Amino acid sequence: MKKMLRTVISAQEAMKIKEMLGESKNVVITCHTGPDGDAIGSSLAMYEYLKRKGKQVQVIVPNYFPDFLRWMNDSDKIIQYDRHRALSKTYFQQADLVIALDYNSMKRIDDLQVPMSHCKCKMLMIDHHEDPDKFCTFQLSRPEMSSTCELLYRLLIAMGEEKQINLHCAEDLYAGMCTDTGRFTYNSNDPEIYEIIAGLMHKGIDKDLIVRNLYNQYTEGRYRLLGHILLNKMELYPELHASIFSVGRDELKHFKYIKGDAEGFVNIPLEIKGTKLSISLREDTEKDRIFVSIRSYDDFSAQEMAERFFNGGGHYHAAGGTLYCSMEEALETARKALEAYREELSR
Ligand code: 5GP
Ligand code: MN
Repeated sequence: MKKMLRTVISAQEAMKIKEMLGESKNVVITCHTGPDGDAIGSSLAMYEYLKRKGKQVQVIVPNYFPDFLRWMNDSDKIIQYDRHRALSKTYFQQADLVIALDYNSMKRIDDLQVPMSHCKCKMLMIDHHEDPDKFCTFQLSRPEMSSTCELLYRLLIAMGEEKQINLHCAEDLYAGMCTDTGRFTYNSNDPEIYEIIAGLMHKGIDKDLIVRNLYNQYTEGRYRLLGHILLNKMELYPELHASIFSVGRDELKHFKYIKGDAEGFVNIPLEIKGTKLSISLREDTEKDRIFVSIRSYDDFSAQEMAERFFNGGGHYHAAGGTLYCSMEEALETARKALEAYREELSR
């Protein structure tokens, strides 16, 4: 007998969302800038489900998403807003429902805010980030979920739609759950995560192949860049159990950086014994800005540090932000951030 999942979504919420989806004909699905596995996974899983329900569905993402997500079924049908503004606009004009997946604020979608804010139709948010802004007609926010994909699976079950999860939908959901937990190495102690994986495996997913598709598709440049960072750029602060590394535009160019190449680098210093905080500063290859990624262990909040020092936010153990300054200034800010938490970090 199949084990029931605990109630995370109330019957009323599931009914309300089922009704919103049921009443719609033309749906636009959106996710955050710099889409990751969970953003693309949840978008395409929702797309697969709605297609099966006979809807017209278009996924529109703010900008480029990495190649290691392009094995997903119909990922080639996704429209990138920054390259196809006019076409995107027509989809928004026709839409009677816009779905926001894996983000909690319009600030997270860059210029995609423009068609979103002009859109008069109903909007539905499904997300797992803390402190959501109110920007949709109906919002399902569950920060305690490991990924939006986990939440979406639970929603499909709560709506009584288990049968509508096809193989592709199951693959997409697995990909999002896998990437948002670093292959189930953090934020992944809820036993029900594994019940859900079992459910997805019963749909026929080849989870070993998905992991290979997600992680073993990188460029040579990525590994040369990683070697350079670890050898020359990583600053370790053993007494603070912390690490900072920075990587500038010229270095990225030198190693023939393509988007996605630095994925997961921020986690690596945490593999060094005793480290519980890692900060990555990466210069954008186009605009003058520096992307900040923070990862932490135990009782240190990456999210709080991201909010206080890096104009950002995120989750307790995985957060990020953006700085508009030189790399030297960004490094100073990061060092100041360590200093500000000296007491907590020294423990
Ligand atoms: P990453 O380091 O992978 O870019 O981001 C880690 C986590 O922090 C992700 O869940 C991401 O959504 C969140 N995050 C990254 N940048 C920002 C930001 O500027 N603001 C907020 N609120 N969250 C962010
Ligand atoms: Mn996510």
